[in-house]
Amino acid sequence: MNEQYIWGFLIDKIGNPFGVAGVMGNLFAESGLKPNNLQNAYEKPLNLTDEEYTKAVDNGSYTKDDFVNDHAGYGIAQWTYWSRKKGLYEYLKSRVLPIDDLTGQLGFLWEEVKQIHGLEETLKTAHSVREASDAFMLEFEGPADQSENNKQTRSGYGERYYTEFAGNQGNIAVFDLAQEDSSTAEKSPSKARKLTIYKRLFYNAYCYKDGIIQTPTGVQVHSTGANNPYLRRYVQPDDGRLGKNPNGNDHNQPGGNVCASAYIGKLADGTVAVYQALPWDYRCWLSGSGSKGNANRLGFIGFEICEDGLRDETYFNDAVMGKGVLLTAYLCQEFGIDLDRVRDHAELSSEGLASNHADITHWLSKFGLNMNDFRAAVGLALEDGVAVTYIDCDEETCLYDALTINPGTYLNLRSGPGQDYASIARIPRGSIVMVLDDTNPEWFKVSYQGENGYAMAKYLERLPDPPEPEPEPEPEPQPQGKRTLELSDATIAELYNAIMESGFFPDARSGNISNIDYQ
Ligand SMILES: [Zn+2]
Repeated sequence: MNEQYIWGFLIDKIGNPFGVAGVMGNLFAESGLKPNNLQNAYEKPLNLTDEEYTKAVDNGSYTKDDFVNDHAGYGIAQWTYWSRKKGLYEYLKSRVLPIDDLTGQLGFLWEEVKQIHGLEETLKTAHSVREASDAFMLEFEGPADQSENNKQTRSGYGERYYTEFAGNQGNIAVFDLAQEDSSTAEKSPSKARKLTIYKRLFYNAYCYKDGIIQTPTGVQVHSTGANNPYLRRYVQPDDGRLGKNPNGNDHNQPGGNVCASAYIGKLADGTVAVYQALPWDYRCWLSGSGSKGNANRLGFIGFEICEDGLRDETYFNDAVMGKGVLLTAYLCQEFGIDLDRVRDHAELSSEGLASNHADITHWLSKFGLNMNDFRAAVGLALEDGVAVTYIDCDEETCLYDALTINPGTYLNLRSGPGQDYASIARIPRGSIVMVLDDTNPEWFKVSYQGENGYAMAKYLERLPDPPEPEPEPEPEPQPQGKRTLELSDATIAELYNAIMESGFFPDARSGNISNIDYQ
């Protein structure tokens, strides 16, 4: 299983079956192609099996320092030297992958190959397995035993892979095999990485109301530039997870000039989450214009990551290299967007397609990364596939609509379930509210004009659920020209009286607008 996958991964990078076979023979000699392989000589002194060591590294009981400095070979290439183990650890952990993740280890291996002078070129142009195998053994692995005997053994393993995957089928067939392998991997639900997206569409924002629909052609990644990692600063109203923004300066309101398609940051309880604010094919307002254009208008879906003080590596790994990478990969996957069309604000700015900002490169650089690392991580996520679960905040919380039928003019919306709690809004009689929770028979949790609170249940009358939308009727032929309805003053007066007699607006009729707190 691993063999085919590794062949596919490497042929994609190297393109030359001799080069791939030369690498694989060495990896087999080192680890038997097992990504969780702990060097056998260390299993006894550490008193850990491959599985136990791997688990301990992942759960932190075997610390990063221990892992880096224990001199024990680990992984498909049996990385041993401290700086290489440190690189391996950081490469995988910054991508939120387990230490024995095969794709992650291959990704790191390839990064290392590219940094060894001339090795990539040798693998791409080698005319025999032996030529590639020797180069990889001496320049990449550098084993203690560099004898002719060992060279023959390793290239012999490589020949077996060459025969199995390239020998009788030629390069084209092998490439197809690799493609087939990676596409079945994408479809495997166990391998796909999971992401939850909360939907909290910005109905109040002008950007949403403008609703300019365009084909997504890229992804623009931003971070907020302000030290406030909490989503509630930008995303409102509160859904019970976000918490409330007491300053009223969130992005879901008319008049603002910034509106992202999605936001990543902390919920009130500190969990990092993704909130979608615009349908993905709506134009967002994020990039601003540069000398050559405006990324928003070129179809770049944009999201904001809430910045903290830019020092917390755990938050960085979760919000940027974790959920930021997964969201980007998901958007690429859904809309067929090429990795080359993933840009941060800083890049777009230098390409003349956005205003002058440094995000998110300034944040990545704090942890030794850049946008190429970000894109590489997106590429790895794409290989596994991303499986998204959507939770719609409106649908999830609104049980049904209710009419306020209180005898006074207003019904109080209170901050808690009781009359001791402060009144946070007054709901005019006859208003419709969303019932979010009706488990307490005296006080329902309701939402009125984006404000969540509690109202007395006995003054709320459940409205019937809206009927299923009927199929669109055939349009009737319209008569040409405008139609106007003429009403005489007498008819208007009659209508007015009929409405008032109905008793629906008694206070309005008497002119006596009361504000009795009758609760
Ligand atoms: Zn930005």
